[in-house]
Amino acid sequence: MARGLDNHNQRQDILKSFGRDLARRSGSSCELCEASGVSLEIYEVPPVMHEPDFDSCLFICRACKEGIDAVKKSNPEQWRFLTGRIWSDIPAVKILSVMILRAISSRATWAAEVLDDLYLDEDEERRAAAGLI
Ligand SMILES: [Zn+2]
Repeated sequence: MARGLDNHNQRQDILKSFGRDLARRSGSSCELCEASGVSLEIYEVPPVMHEPDFDSCLFICRACKEGIDAVKKSNPEQWRFLTGRIWSDIPAVKILSVMILRAISSRATWAAEVLDDLYLDEDEERRAAAGLI
């Protein structure tokens, strides 16, 4: 047990150490919906690795986090802004946007169309294939 706890704390320390760089990259706004003046938390794009990977982390707001956690039940219209975000130069933003759009695409024609126009390289495709839980 003690060992597991140590690992958990180590993970948290590593994630915390990403905070400053994420704040700089995000300009302290949500990296998905671009809301500013809201509290942001670190989100790890699945699959979550044993050791946190900065390139799989992004800063998102609570509304986006809750939407992702219940993505299958979410209203597709709330994700309209992702049509711009999937072109992001930031891999974590792009991959997470693709995952969300794929999760809603059976219920939203516009999402399926956006995905049709998108090209993913092999590495991006491999990452996006992990999907959301
Ligand atoms: Zn957001």
